Amino acid sequence: MPQAGIHGMVAIASRKWMPKREWFLLGVVLGSVFPDLDNFVVAYAVLAKLPNPEGYHRTFTHSLFTVLAVIFVFYILSLALKNEKWKNFGNGLGAGILMHIALDLVLWFGGVRLLWPLSFELNFWRWFVTPAWLKILLETGEFLAFGLYFLLLDSLALRFSTDLHSRRSLRMWASLQFALFILFTLLFFILGSKGLSYQVYGGLYLLSLVVIFVITLRMKRTIETT
Ligand SMILES: [Zn+2]
Repeated sequence: MPQAGIHGMVAIASRKWMPKREWFLLGVVLGSVFPDLDNFVVAYAVLAKLPNPEGYHRTFTHSLFTVLAVIFVFYILSLALKNEKWKNFGNGLGAGILMHIALDLVLWFGGVRLLWPLSFELNFWRWFVTPAWLKILLETGEFLAFGLYFLLLDSLALRFSTDLHSRRSLRMWASLQFALFILFTLLFFILGSKGLSYQVYGGLYLLSLVVIFVITLRMKRTIETT
């Protein structure tokens, strides 16, 4: 799977081609990261000792039906609240989830249950066996990508003079993510990606996913300025 930060960066890079409607771009960026929240379910399945926990990843949040449901729910919400912005936000979320699915199919060697709950899986990488060293780098690379995403937001804030008060905390979070990347890469190559160090990694990854949502929301003005 491409790292969540890569999804976020691709979404931000796409903004020049996106419609300029209020809250739309914010939706695209959040929608691009949203599908990997299914890793919370994977973590729950691991803790609850359910069979095949990894089997929950790239399913219900990576489905075209979810895209339609999200767009529909926010459309209804916009009618109920008589506020166009919610419709823009929902359309943006839908577009972001679609971009996420497309990138997942191309990058980093796995399939997607595109039509979940149907069992069909689209997988261009069935022939590919991920070597152990690459698997480690793809996992610890989550931290690297989070850090780069935060630096990208920081550079945009500087360029547009928006959300300047957040720049210090952005750089702090970026440094922390880079440190975690180095720490866990070393740990996993020395000890293997298992046991306690892997559980701590998983916890910090999930925490970082929440942080990327909170920070993205706080940087709304920067993201919507093009
Ligand atoms: Zn994904």
